[in-house]
Amino acid sequence: MNIHEYQGKAILTSFGAPVSEGQPALSVEEAMTAAKALPGPVYVVKSQIHAGGRGKGKFKELPADAKGGVRLAKSIEEVAVYAREMLGNTLVTAQTGPAGKQVNRLYIEDGCDIEREFYLSMLVDRETSRVAFVVSTAGGMDIEKVAHDTPDKIMTFSVDPATGVMAHHGRAVARALGLQGNLAKQAEKLAAQLYRAFIGTDMAMLEINPLVVTKQGELRCLDAKISFDSNALYRHAELIELRDLTEEDGKEIEASKSDLNYIALEGTIGCMVNGAGLAMATMDIIKLYGASPANFLDVGGGATKEKVAAAFKIITSDPNVQGILVNIFGGIMRCDVVAEGVVAAVREVGLAVPLVVRLEGTNVELGKKVIRESGLNVVSADDLDDAAQKIVRATRKEAA
Ligand code: ADP
Ligand code: MG
Repeated sequence: MNIHEYQGKAILTSFGAPVSEGQPALSVEEAMTAAKALPGPVYVVKSQIHAGGRGKGKFKELPADAKGGVRLAKSIEEVAVYAREMLGNTLVTAQTGPAGKQVNRLYIEDGCDIEREFYLSMLVDRETSRVAFVVSTAGGMDIEKVAHDTPDKIMTFSVDPATGVMAHHGRAVARALGLQGNLAKQAEKLAAQLYRAFIGTDMAMLEINPLVVTKQGELRCLDAKISFDSNALYRHAELIELRDLTEEDGKEIEASKSDLNYIALEGTIGCMVNGAGLAMATMDIIKLYGASPANFLDVGGGATKEKVAAAFKIITSDPNVQGILVNIFGGIMRCDVVAEGVVAAVREVGLAVPLVVRLEGTNVELGKKVIRESGLNVVSADDLDDAAQKIVRATRKEAA
C-alpha cells in the first residue's frame, strides 16, 4: 500500500525525523490558509499523487512551458495561483505513465534553503533477507540514471535484524554522504530514526529523495515516498486509514474486496488463472505467441463460483481487454465450479470479446459440459500451448 508524501512525513515526524513544516490542502482556500500558518517568505506547493518525479512532471491541461507539480511560491497570492492550476488537473511524470494522475490534494510546505541534496532509501533486500540502506550523494535527480551511469555513486549496506540498527550503520550513512562533525551526528541519529520507523510500521520501501543539508546546517527529509508491506497491514489499523482509494486502480480495489490477487497490466489479453506459478506461465506463453497479458490474476486455490464470477467481471470491465483466456488447473479447485462462475458472469455482464477456456484436473468433464451446455460462444482448448495460440489468433482476427 502506498501513501502520500504528507502522510509519510507525519509518520517520519512521529519517529523524530526532521521534516519541514507543512499542511495538506484540498482546495485553493485551504492552500492559502495553510500557507498563512507558515513562516514564509517562500512556500512550496506540492502535488500529492502516488508517483514520484512530480517536480519535473507536466500538467496535461496547462501549456507545455508551465511549471511542474512541485513549485516554489514567493507569496500567498502565488500559492493560490499555483493551487488553482494544479487541483483537478492531470500530472504526467516519469512514474505515472502517459495517462498521468489527477491531482486532488496538495501539500503546502515551508520553503527550505537547500545547500546540498542527497539520496537515501531503505528497502527489504531479498538477497540478504535484511533491511538495506541505499545512499548516494547524487540526490534530487533521477536515481535510476545515477544507478545506470555511475553505480559507484550509490552505497548499499544492510542491517542485521538480530542487532537492529547500530551506531556504525549511522556512521556508514554519514561516511557515504561525506558528512562530518555535527552533520555526521545528525545523520547517525536520522539513520536510527528511519530504521525504527521502517520496522515499526512494516514498510516495504522508504525513499527520501532529496535528503538535504540546509544553509542553516541541518539535515532534513524534503521528500518521502513510502509503501507498506500489505501482508502486515492487519497489524496497523491506523495505517489502513491512510489509504487513498482515488489513487488506486479501480479494478484492483474490486479485486481486493473479493480477496483476489489481481494486478492490472498494459496488454490486451485478460487472464483468469489459479495459482501464481500457472498465472506466470500463462503470461509467458501469451508473450511467446506475440501478444501481452492485460493483467495478472490468481483466483486462488478453493475459489467459489461467486469469486470466479467476480474475477471474470473485473477482467471484462477493462477496456483494453480484447480477448480472455481462462486457464485453470483443478486441484483443490473444481473445474465445474470455475465453469459455473464463468457462465454466471457472462450471463450477467455479457461477453464482447473472444473467450478461450482451458480446464484440466478435478471434475474437468463436468466443467466442459457446463460450458458446452451454456450455449455461450466459448472456444475450448486442450492444453496451455493450444489455448495461448487460440486466444492470440482470436484477438488478431478481432483487431483486423
Ligand atoms: P518529486 O521527487 O516528486 O519531484 P520532491 O518532493 O522531491 O518531488 O520535490 C522536487 C524538488 O523540489 C526537490 O528535489 C527539491 O529540490 C525541491 N523541493 C521540494 N520541497 C521543497 C521545500 N520544502 N523547499 C525547497 N525546495 C523543495
Ligand atoms: Mg523527490
